[in-house]
Amino acid sequence: MKGPWWQQRLCDYGFRLTNPRAMIIGILRNTEKHLSAEEIYIDAVKINPSIGLTTIYRTLDLFTQIGVVQKFDFGDGRARYELTNNPLKKDHHHHLVCVKCKTIIDYTDFVHEELELMNKTEKALSRKYRFNIYHHTVHFYGICSQCQREG
Ligand SMILES: [Zn+2]
Ligand SMILES: [Zn+2]
Ligand SMILES: [Zn+2]
Repeated sequence: MKGPWWQQRLCDYGFRLTNPRAMIIGILRNTEKHLSAEEIYIDAVKINPSIGLTTIYRTLDLFTQIGVVQKFDFGDGRARYELTNNPLKKDHHHHLVCVKCKTIIDYTDFVHEELELMNKTEKALSRKYRFNIYHHTVHFYGICSQCQREG
């Protein structure tokens, strides 16, 4: 089967691309934000008023399990989601999370030591646990420059 990577992923795991699934992927594709289930629901209802919040939760759980989305807890009390590969966000990125204003910075401009460390770590972990690593997520928590200035 040919299709976008998420459709391929669903197919690999034996799931069909239903309308709600396609709609949720569409919403996540068109944002650079990290949306909560409730925020996705608000957008989804505009497209299909009959969709329920339960469907959103269930679909996001499925997507998380098969790696179509990544689920984050940034410490603001609600899970947030983003597509594993989002053309808007170009490539793999890490997160800087401000614990004060809850701003989430996606960065792809890695410091040199970071790439080297991730590479070495993945290789060593693979060896040690005989585990094939496909991807990883990195979040750093702290205080952003804006909040530092405001003291
Ligand atoms: Zn990384
Ligand atoms: Zn901040
Ligand atoms: Zn992100």
